[in-house]
Amino acid sequence: MKIAVLSTNRDLYSTRRLVEAGEERGHAIRVINHKRCYMNIVSNESDIHYNGESLKGFDAIIPRIGASVTFYGTAVVRQFETMGVYSVNESVAISRSRDKLRSLQLLARKGIDLPVTGFANAPGDTDDLLAVVGGAPVVIKLLEGTQGVGVVLAETKKAAASVIEAFRGLKANFMVQEFVKEADGADIRCLVIGDKVVAAMKRQGKEGEFRSNLHRGGTASLVKISPAERRTAVQSAKVMGLNVAGVDLLQSSRGPVVLEVNSSPGLEGIEKATKRDVAGTIIEFIEKNARHGRTKTRGKG
Ligand code: ADP
Ligand code: MG
Repeated sequence: MKIAVLSTNRDLYSTRRLVEAGEERGHAIRVINHKRCYMNIVSNESDIHYNGESLKGFDAIIPRIGASVTFYGTAVVRQFETMGVYSVNESVAISRSRDKLRSLQLLARKGIDLPVTGFANAPGDTDDLLAVVGGAPVVIKLLEGTQGVGVVLAETKKAAASVIEAFRGLKANFMVQEFVKEADGADIRCLVIGDKVVAAMKRQGKEGEFRSNLHRGGTASLVKISPAERRTAVQSAKVMGLNVAGVDLLQSSRGPVVLEVNSSPGLEGIEKATKRDVAGTIIEFIEKNARHGRTKTRGKG
């Protein structure tokens, strides 16, 4: 098959591994920088151009769209979908997963357990907003943060009110969440492909840090997940409409709660911690599922 990996950097571990895994299986793999694609939107004969060349003839794409280029990146994915090219994750699903609030609302609607989460706009509501999530300590998050940036633990009501005031002053969208203390600075990353968790790791924040992000100095180790965790992860990816997803869970005293669902999960941490060939499993999923025009949400924005 002819497969394109949409990535802005061919030297990134995840990009390199996808190229390697595809070539090992006999496919022609190309890395295409979606930021440098330009599009020709014409009824019934849309096209994408790259360095003066037309990008027709791909069987499948693997979008690896960074958070800072979601708008343009998903437009490029949508253009491929319009042309009938199979995308392992569809543009609509990627957009959904990028907005934490929108994701949590979708997951809640399907009965998936989440940390209690509040969201408000008007400044007068701070006290009640804190009460809704059970009072301090609370976690306050920017809706479009990644890698732990913009995720703050407010231990007291006073601290929470100050952080909320600061975020409001910056006109940033944020949410307020119950602090799941018993997670103890750790979370579980489940790598879901299709309807399976193909690898799972536990990430532990460094000493004194409640955020377990590897970019914040957290460490990863192989973990055996419970059936409830497995079910929650697979169901969450499905609700989001993602075939490939990194589902982050906290182990709360009432069972697994979902923190977020990532549409371009990094492969380095999880492949190294679990010794699983995640990139190869993504290619195999494409081999089984890629068909011209098989795009569920085509034309639905
Ligand atoms: P990001 O998208 O920036 O990674 P997350 O929502 O995943 O933001 O939060 C970063 C980390 O902070 C999580 O991996 C988790 O370890 C910790 N964390 C986030 N929310 C909570 C919470 N409600 N209770 C306890 N820990 C949390
Ligand atoms: Mg996270």
